[in-house]
Amino acid sequence: MDKIKAPKGTKDIFTPDIEKWQYLEEKIKEVFNRFYFSEIRTPIFEHTELFSRGIGDETEVVSKEMYTFKDRKERSLTLRPENTASVVRAAIENKLFDEHFPLRYYYIGPMFRYERPQKGRQRQFHQFGVEVFNDPSAEVDAEVILVAYKLLIDLGINTINVEINSVGCKNCRPDYLKLLSEKAEMESEKLCSDCQRKTKTNPLRIFDCKNKGCIEVADNLPKITDNLCQDCNTHFVKLKESLNLFEVPFFVNTRLVRGLDYYTKTAFEITSEALGSQNAILGGGRYNDLIKQLGGNEISGIGFAAGMERVILHLDKIEKKNKLKVIIVYHSENEKTASLKIAKRCWDLGLNAFIDYGAGNMKKQFKKGDRIEADFAFVIGKDEVVDSMISIKNMKTREQEKIKNEDLEKWIKKNI
Ligand SMILES: [Zn+2]
Ligand SMILES: [Zn+2]
Repeated sequence: MDKIKAPKGTKDIFTPDIEKWQYLEEKIKEVFNRFYFSEIRTPIFEHTELFSRGIGDETEVVSKEMYTFKDRKERSLTLRPENTASVVRAAIENKLFDEHFPLRYYYIGPMFRYERPQKGRQRQFHQFGVEVFNDPSAEVDAEVILVAYKLLIDLGINTINVEINSVGCKNCRPDYLKLLSEKAEMESEKLCSDCQRKTKTNPLRIFDCKNKGCIEVADNLPKITDNLCQDCNTHFVKLKESLNLFEVPFFVNTRLVRGLDYYTKTAFEITSEALGSQNAILGGGRYNDLIKQLGGNEISGIGFAAGMERVILHLDKIEKKNKLKVIIVYHSENEKTASLKIAKRCWDLGLNAFIDYGAGNMKKQFKKGDRIEADFAFVIGKDEVVDSMISIKNMKTREQEKIKNEDLEKWIKKNI
């Protein structure tokens, strides 16, 4: 029979890679808790409308990349392509918004997009991120960027750049877009055909074009940071001051406009050059109009999302927890019962212990001990059973000692 394979763009994750995933997840929880974020878990699938309304029908994600299907009652459902819309939906539905208090959530989990798989990009991919609602201050924007920065630095990823921009608001962006469109049209003959079209429909997207001619034109187009309203400008100045205060190195990238139209004011990305070309590890921004768009009140929001596959590509060495590993080695079937009792005591005392029930001779068992990278072998032979002792062999130094059964707890305390 044909073997069944995992669907294209999905991956099985197991040891040793799984250790990096677990390490990352632990760090995420530890760092985010420090900043008073609490975890939120939303469903893997939602009503399709949530994403078409929340992300926008015309975006690439919604129009081309979603896994949408009908359930048995003909309802249109979609595997979540990102988590912000779901978190906003959950907060509205569960009445989590408190007008007197900011809400801070973080999430970790799989997302789904029908894209061409490549290094660090899967169809089932994983993201973590944070969302802060009901705090419109520039300081919290800086704190959200600090959390992201701190986590990556704590993970030992030092090759990162923090890029920030302001994308304006509904008061100043329309005027800027008009100006941008006019100026871009004057340079129209230097632009690629795609960008020529964008000058009328969505001139901001010209900044995303990788075409050399387009980049040159884009460099001389009016900058959004020179065309902000008073409110957006004050916010941007405060953001930069706060980032300096938090000691986050950053630079302003006026080409950074982010893919989603719901962003207002702050937009940011953290990129890395470590893997050759410059890659975005995470991105986010402020979205003050999104919550209303999804049926909530006028409540501000800011957040970011990071690709876990990309972060993991940057993790080479991880701190391994120094938990003692032990293999129980027994001489023959006659010593098996005594060995099982020792194994049970090890587990009760919190040791990582392994015993191979169909092991065969002691040499084979020691080999298995090497394979699981055991620190010690607890050896149970005929004498040990008679005298209620355990022979302990250090698997690295090959040193041996013998202890009384009842002293096992004392020994563990001394050796952990
Ligand atoms: Zn504005
Ligand atoms: Zn172009």
